[in-house]
Formats: sequence, structure tokens, C-alpha cells
Amino acid sequence: MRKYYAVSLSLISLILLVLAFLVISCHETNQPDGKIGVVVSIAPQADFVEAVGGEKVIVTVMVPPGADPHTYEPTPSQMVGVSKANMYAKVGSGIEFELAWMDKISQQNKKMLVVDCSKSIQMMEMEEHHADEHDDKQHQGEDPHIWLSPQNAKLMVGDICSGLIKVDHQNESYYTRNRDEYLAKLDALDKDIREGLSGVINRRFIVFHPAWGYFARGYGLEQISIEIGGKEPSAKDIADLIQKAKELGIKIIFAEPQFNPRSAEIIAKEIGGRVVFIDPLAEDYIGNMRLVLDELVKAME
Ligand code: ZN
Repeated sequence: MRKYYAVSLSLISLILLVLAFLVISCHETNQPDGKIGVVVSIAPQADFVEAVGGEKVIVTVMVPPGADPHTYEPTPSQMVGVSKANMYAKVGSGIEFELAWMDKISQQNKKMLVVDCSKSIQMMEMEEHHADEHDDKQHQGEDPHIWLSPQNAKLMVGDICSGLIKVDHQNESYYTRNRDEYLAKLDALDKDIREGLSGVINRRFIVFHPAWGYFARGYGLEQISIEIGGKEPSAKDIADLIQKAKELGIKIIFAEPQFNPRSAEIIAKEIGGRVVFIDPLAEDYIGNMRLVLDELVKAME
């Protein structure tokens, strides 16, 4: 009797142990192959997470390439993806998608670690340089496009790495090794941009959507935006920009694939130039920044 009692006790503890293990496993990961599920807001962050997380992570992007993060709304299946994730890396700099959706996303999965990729970054004011000489700068609050500077990208990668270590501590050395390799690549990119732009004399460029403020500040350039405060320019704004482009000898007008290039095309036509697309949301971060560098050097030299 006594022996039977002891056996059932150890059986119960065994069952409890198995149950506890199952519960812990569920907390660890809900993804196939035991991978860590990470959700990010925009595609460049997916590149950062994959660079650090390698084969240990599965990444889901909320705002798909080509969509505008200022207006995008997630689909129901994306919200289901959120409910299975271990970690969410938000940009954290005030992009409208997150302002509108971050509370609902956190509510969807309260166990998910939310990493703020802006927390180590010195935010800058949105400086919109206008063509009108009397109103050269307008401030529209903080500039949310933090990821478009390789120096900022390094800080974002560091925060993503710390987050992955929190949710998957046993692979810490794997994550830190990958992080260090990627940071070295970002340093090389930064050096190449600095050198590539060193000989450029006319350091101003015209772009539709003012996404390149951190980039411009980092490398001593001036971004002149067509869009002002998120709005299409008026006929007078366009006339002023045409005048300014002529004065500055600018022949290339930049636009982003997420936005209608109509006003950029009007200006390009008037100055006898052309529109070139540069993508602030491409997933291959380093490759894309090198393309942007090439286009800027060609446009400004
Ligand atoms: Zn933007």
C-alpha cells in the first residue's frame, strides 16, 4: 500500500514535470522547428533581425514592401501572426502605423517582448526645407525615419540583439557574434558613403517624401522635399521648387516607390531632368543604401 502510494506520487510529479516543461516550451516558441518568431513593422528591420537571428528566427513584416507605413493597416492574418510571436521590434520613432496599431498589437499577445528600436537614438526635428526663401525651414515635430542612417541602424541592431537574447538566452553567443559581424558591415557602408560623397560640391537634393533627413544630416547634405507636412505641394510650391532646382542646377528629382510621383515628374519635366526612385523601405538594407549612394552621387556631382 505504502509502495503503491510512493509510485503514484512519483508518477504525479513526473506528469507535473512534463506539464511544466510543455508550458515552458509554449512560452519559449510557438513557431515550427522551435524557431523564435519575431514581428517587425518595416522591411529594413526584418533585415536587421535576420542578420542577428540567422537560422534561429522567423521574421514577419507588418508593412509590406511598397506599402506606405504612414497609412498601412494590418490584415487579420497578420494579427494572428502577432499572437504567435515571441518578440515585436517596433521602430518606436512615431511612424503612423505604430501610433495607430501598437496598443492593439501588444494586446493581441501580452507575453510578446516589445523592443523599441528608437530607444538608443537621438531623435531629430523634421526639418523641411522649402523652396520659398522666406520660409526656408518648417518644423513638423520629430522625424520618424531613423533607420535611414547607418549609424542609427547600428543602434537599432544592438537593441534587436538585446531583445533576442532576452527571449532566447541560450543562444546569446550566436546572436552577439552575428551582431558584431553585421555592425562591421554597417561600419564599412558608413565609410563608403562618407568617401563616396566626399567629392560632391553641390550637396542639395530634391526628393518627394522627406525620408532622408538623418541620412542628410549624417553626411552633410541638404534634403529639399516636395511634399510638405505630409501633403501634396500646391501649384505655387511646385513653381518655387522648379525655380530653386534651376538656380541650383539640379537635374534629378528623387521620389519613393511608396508615393505617387506625379509632382516629381512635373518638376523634372520643367527643368529638363528626370525622376529617380530611391526606396526608404527596401529589405536589403546595405545593398539598397549603396544604390541610394550611387544615385545621389550621380545626381549631385
Ligand atoms: Zn516616411
